Amino acid sequence: MVWSGVLDKYGSYLPLASAARIITLNEGNTPLVESNRLAEFVAPGAGLKLYFKYEGLNPTGSFKDRGMTAAITQAVFEGANTVICASTGNTAASAAAYAARSGLRCLVLVPEGKIALGKLAASLAYGAEVISIDGSFDDGLKMVREIVKRKPIALVNSVNPWRIEGQKTGAFEICDQLGGVAPDWHCLPVGNAGNITAYWMGYQQYEQGLPRLLGAQASGAAPIVSGKVVTSPETVATAIRIGNPARWREAVQALDDSGGTITAVTDEEILNAWRLLAKMEGLFVEPASASGLAALMKLVNDGEVDPTGKRIVIVLTGHGLKDPGIAVREAAEPLKLPADINALEAYLE
Ligand SMILES: *Cc1c(COP(=O)(O)O)cnc(C)c1O
Repeated sequence: MVWSGVLDKYGSYLPLASAARIITLNEGNTPLVESNRLAEFVAPGAGLKLYFKYEGLNPTGSFKDRGMTAAITQAVFEGANTVICASTGNTAASAAAYAARSGLRCLVLVPEGKIALGKLAASLAYGAEVISIDGSFDDGLKMVREIVKRKPIALVNSVNPWRIEGQKTGAFEICDQLGGVAPDWHCLPVGNAGNITAYWMGYQQYEQGLPRLLGAQASGAAPIVSGKVVTSPETVATAIRIGNPARWREAVQALDDSGGTITAVTDEEILNAWRLLAKMEGLFVEPASASGLAALMKLVNDGEVDPTGKRIVIVLTGHGLKDPGIAVREAAEPLKLPADINALEAYLE
């Protein structure tokens, strides 16, 4: 079968009107990569089956495309000609691409200086009007929620129910890829909390078993873990630099219903997990995407998660090339040699 995107494959699970014309970039169908080395590293001798859902391989490099195909399809169906979002970067890039594909005007509000280079570059390339505000993501979200009450513009943040509808297809794919069964644990980063809400909805609807959810927040941006709004969130994981998640209540409900938990990981733990993913598995992700692994390592270490014989899925939410700045900053300078075979041979000795 030719893959034509998540609405083509799973549309019957979404309340889309049959007359809606699907706007797709053939998102979804991302690989579920089984761990080759990290499972044994994380839990030696435990027989852990660890898998990575590599969402960075979506058309704009993050899982946001799953929700955006649904949100833009619905916006076009309803006759919108302008869409808007606030974004830490990936929603902006995704909205910009799907808007370009359907001829919509697209405005994105981003926190000044806090958006990774690859995300900004893509949003601009797709022709979005990028507006940098001297505030946080949370400030931007407040602005866009208000402007859509005043102007006929469609809001495509994950407060839009169609984003959740599209993103829940990630849960369907994981069950299909595991051969018709949900994992024991499902680990993922939590920012605005749309994705954790969507996955829980998806697992419930697909009826192939329910995982326990393990949410990860960055310790400098951990409102759900601490139970209070963070007014100046700070973390290297810019995609989850959010102090007041729009779907906070839904996330807590999903965590409770699943018998799961949410924990905060430091930037150091996030970058350690980020290095391990690249150097032990060949999986290059943006920092936020490594926080699920960081959280799992922490809770296995603390004895809060028993990995013995378990099947655990970690969602890698965005591609490493989204944030080249961090990769360059964390790396050693490349070695310099004369263009001479003897110099290379000498180096190898
Ligand atoms: C958006 C995003 C998140 C957070 O997802 P929420 O739905 O906001 O909780 C995590 N990682 C990456 C790479 C993202 O783009």
